[in-house]
Amino acid sequence: MKSYIAEKAVLTMREEIAETGGNEIFFLGRTDENGIVVEVEPLARGSRDAVAAIIIATSFGDVVLHNHPSGDLTPSQPDLEVASILGNQGVGFYIIDNAAERCYQAVRPFARKTVEHLSFPEIEQFFAPGGVLSRNLEGYEHRDEQTRMAFDVAEAFNRERVAVIEAGTGTGKSLAYLLPAVLWSVRNRERIVISTNTINLQEQLIKKDIPFLQQKGGLAFRAVLVKGRSNYLCLRKLKAIEAEPSLFKEEGTAGELEALVEWSRKTGDGCRNDLSFIPRDEIWQEVCCEADQCGRVKCAHYGKCFFYTARREAAGADVLVVNHALLFADVAVRNETGYDSSAILPPFTRLIFDEGHHLEDTATSFFSSRTSRHGLLQILGRLQHPRKAQRGILPQLSAKISREVPEELDALFIELSALLEERLIPQRIILADSVTKVLDSLGLDLLAYLKNDKKSSGERKLRLTAAVYVDPFWRTAEEAVLQISRQ
Ligand code: SF4
Repeated sequence: MKSYIAEKAVLTMREEIAETGGNEIFFLGRTDENGIVVEVEPLARGSRDAVAAIIIATSFGDVVLHNHPSGDLTPSQPDLEVASILGNQGVGFYIIDNAAERCYQAVRPFARKTVEHLSFPEIEQFFAPGGVLSRNLEGYEHRDEQTRMAFDVAEAFNRERVAVIEAGTGTGKSLAYLLPAVLWSVRNRERIVISTNTINLQEQLIKKDIPFLQQKGGLAFRAVLVKGRSNYLCLRKLKAIEAEPSLFKEEGTAGELEALVEWSRKTGDGCRNDLSFIPRDEIWQEVCCEADQCGRVKCAHYGKCFFYTARREAAGADVLVVNHALLFADVAVRNETGYDSSAILPPFTRLIFDEGHHLEDTATSFFSSRTSRHGLLQILGRLQHPRKAQRGILPQLSAKISREVPEELDALFIELSALLEERLIPQRIILADSVTKVLDSLGLDLLAYLKNDKKSSGERKLRLTAAVYVDPFWRTAEEAVLQISRQ
């Protein structure tokens, strides 16, 4: 035990485990240059639900340790799954007993890499008069701000820090972050993701700045623009439609389908924007890749699949260019699945946001849900039209039952009719009524609440911070919404 965990770390774990009454604790262990765990800190207590948080907290060369209160150190199936995810990220996985005397090394720690720090003179030379930029970029003007920004980015890489930089228009910011990022990726073999908001900027990076660094900067690296799944043609769906062309016999759609088939034979990447025409959304939906309809390795077209080819290219790239929405989709998948193979992006260690002022909006639209009185009433209206009682799913169902249930099943007919007429239809009316009453009164209370808030004027926008949330109004509002959901 002493040979791979230092005494101080053993004592810390023993005390922490004793404090929790011998329950399970996950520890993050930091190793020294010999791979010995010299420091530990508790990450999560008594639960495996925090696996995603554990994965986020670890980095290459660390060890995750946890105790088995039973004293049996044999890894369970969930242990092996976590160990394999961590192992892929260069993180070790140990199981110990409650006294921290015995240890099972499920995955040994990986030797920490020697980090090659970025050199400021090397970066300065690139931007300086007579440097790579001035010799190769027509109209290049040396700007101190650009060099300073490149230094700040390099500093953030070297010291594992977060840098927040505001650069005015014309600073040349993309090269100011790209150069240090690429140098870091090449020297330290670490993948870097650059996330932007607009397609224009992604194209500028992929078509102009990155090729410039590859051709004139003497830097050998691979960069890929990663797009969402629905941008790619699904060969399986296309073949299925080709075999059943009668589905597309409406005016215009047959022609578009033929054009798509023709294009599928010559396109290089199978990506929607490689098309010379813009297909109607409803047609593209029929032929694009969708996660829940994809057979993955079991699909007969997997080897030639455009989407998976793009994914394999991304897995081999040093620099990935993505948009904010795709990045957040990746974060959401990783949070849900605990970092398994369904993540959209391959593992990466460094992230640069450009056009970061859009992040809040993108993250909000991605991780929030929206409820409105109108939306709720619309859903309820689909069940039964609020004014034309014979329209809607419930009355249609009622009519269908009286038409189609045979006489000999009279008892069933009575039971189903009673369910519809006496329970579901009246319940819809009660629920619609509650939605209107509760949300109307909530709206009035909210207006009154905001009127008391002297600071807000013009557009009424309120951030629900912990300080705001202590107001009793929010507890009442929460209870009102829960009341609707309970119904
Ligand atoms: S692997 Fe999936 S996306 Fe690719 S062709 Fe098959 S079903 Fe379509």
